[in-house]
Amino acid sequence: MKFEENIRKVVPYVAGEQPNKPNMIKLNTNECPYPPAPGVEALAKELDVDSLRLYPDQNTTPLVHALAEYYHVKPEQVFVGVGSDDVLSMAFMTFFNSDKPILFPDVTYSFYDVWADLYRIPYKTCPLDENWHIDPADYRQENGGIIFPNPNAPTGLFEDLSVVEEIIKSNPDVIVIVDEAYIDFGGESALPLLEKYENLLVVQTFSKSRAMAGLRIGFCIGSEKLIRYLNDVKFSFNSYTMNLPAQVLGVEAVKDDAYFKGVTGRIIATRERVKKEMTALGFTFPDSRTNFLFVSHRTVPAEDIFRALRERDIYVRHWNKPRIENCLRITIGTDEQMDQMLAFLKEYLKDRME
Ligand code: PMP
Repeated sequence: MKFEENIRKVVPYVAGEQPNKPNMIKLNTNECPYPPAPGVEALAKELDVDSLRLYPDQNTTPLVHALAEYYHVKPEQVFVGVGSDDVLSMAFMTFFNSDKPILFPDVTYSFYDVWADLYRIPYKTCPLDENWHIDPADYRQENGGIIFPNPNAPTGLFEDLSVVEEIIKSNPDVIVIVDEAYIDFGGESALPLLEKYENLLVVQTFSKSRAMAGLRIGFCIGSEKLIRYLNDVKFSFNSYTMNLPAQVLGVEAVKDDAYFKGVTGRIIATRERVKKEMTALGFTFPDSRTNFLFVSHRTVPAEDIFRALRERDIYVRHWNKPRIENCLRITIGTDEQMDQMLAFLKEYLKDRME
């Protein structure tokens, strides 16, 4: 049809499947296996439904202030969005507005090229090295902006802050976005670098370490100037993005630091134990500092293992993409969930490894 000529056509991002089976073990979308902080549950039960008649605070003021206090920055340096996907999408639209290509790694979060296509931003990927690491030298070419996750996804590898700083320092004329979706599982945040670099934006989320993927809360911290530009774009797009319950419950989650540290600590402990057990079963993987492992088996193809696990209602993530088709991304669940998965894998691999 002729009208189709002028329709914006995009190939959408494909998120991990969201099955809903009673006894499934869901290790495919990096959610937290533990509930949100107890205060969140208590407050959710008390939610004043009458307050839903009104529009929510379009500046998400209490949540912005809670985050500013927690991360020791000014409220003017904080921007909140509906999940970090929303924050990242707004940041692409705001900061990547040049004719020069933006740069990001290959392999990385597979939403970046989708946003680039959606907003007609030219891009170029920089391949990871043979050990899945980012080479900062790759980011010394002309570009219109840079984005990478640290730790990277789906590899799980953390880059030392000196690598992050080298990339920011050698690119003073563009915005460098560090996507820290998984930073709370043992990485070191780039937030202190904000004191030195006005072109840095650090993005984080409540979806993993704060166990609130369902509420959709993400945020970023940057210089006051960058946050002003981001707000101008956001308020030109959709003013009331974050609903009232998310705003209220988000504040409550930030209050309980002991619970937050307890949950991330448990996940890290489980991850380190599972690393040993997976190695014993013949798996290899980069040394993850996230809430997932990116594994390959020495002899059995990833797709076979993926299908076998799926038949048992154990969901992990597999991509049919070059370079990573023989890898599985497995979220760290509870100890019990991991033990069930390991027990199954042990049985399954027994006959296939001789
Ligand atoms: N960045 C990375 C690297 C991710 O893996 C994810 C999770 N899919 C996100 C951002 C987005 O998470 P959310 O929108 O739930 O905050």
